[in-house]
Amino acid sequence: MALFERSEKYYQFYAQVHFLTCETCLSHHGEISEDPQYKPPLHPDCRCHLLEFPPSQLEHYQEQAERMKLRAQQELLRRKLWKEAVESLNGADPSHAEALFCQAAQVEFYLEEVEQFCAEKKELLEKNPELRARLQKLFIRFYRMKFSLDKYRAMPPKLILAWETQGIERIKELLPS
Ligand SMILES: [Zn+2]
Repeated sequence: MALFERSEKYYQFYAQVHFLTCETCLSHHGEISEDPQYKPPLHPDCRCHLLEFPPSQLEHYQEQAERMKLRAQQELLRRKLWKEAVESLNGADPSHAEALFCQAAQVEFYLEEVEQFCAEKKELLEKNPELRARLQKLFIRFYRMKFSLDKYRAMPPKLILAWETQGIERIKELLPS
C-alpha cells in the first residue's frame, strides 16, 4: 500500500547565494526532496533553510530549482574570475585583469571583495595612482550596474540610491585618485 502513497510534503533547499556562501551549501541550492538528507544548518553560520511545499506545486518548484542551480554555478564562476583578475594584476598592463573583473561583475559585484582586494594589493595600489584611478572608475561602473540585476528590482528606489551613493563613496575612499 505504501507504494501508492504520495508524499504529503516536499522540501527545497535554499542557500543565500553571495560571496561568502560555502561551496557545499551552493551545491545544494535548489535541491528538492521528500526526505531531505541535508538539513541546514550544515555548519556554524550556515544561513540556508528548507522550504516546505505541497506536491501540487512540484512542477513550479522544479522550474525554480533549475534557475537556482544555474545561479549557484554562476557564483562559483564569478569567484574564479574575480580571483584570476586579482592574481593577474601587476600594474604594467591592467587590461587583462580589467576584462576578468568585468566578466565577474556581470554576475555580481561585492564591495566587501573590493575591500579585501585593496588590502591584498595595498603596496601595488599605493605606488600606482594611474591604476587606482582606472580601477576606481571601473568599480564605480560595476557598482552602478549591480543594482540593475533582477534581484534588486523589487527594492525601493530610495534605498537603492542610498546604497549606491554609500558604495561609490567607499570605492573612492579605497581607491583615491
Ligand atoms: Zn548553508
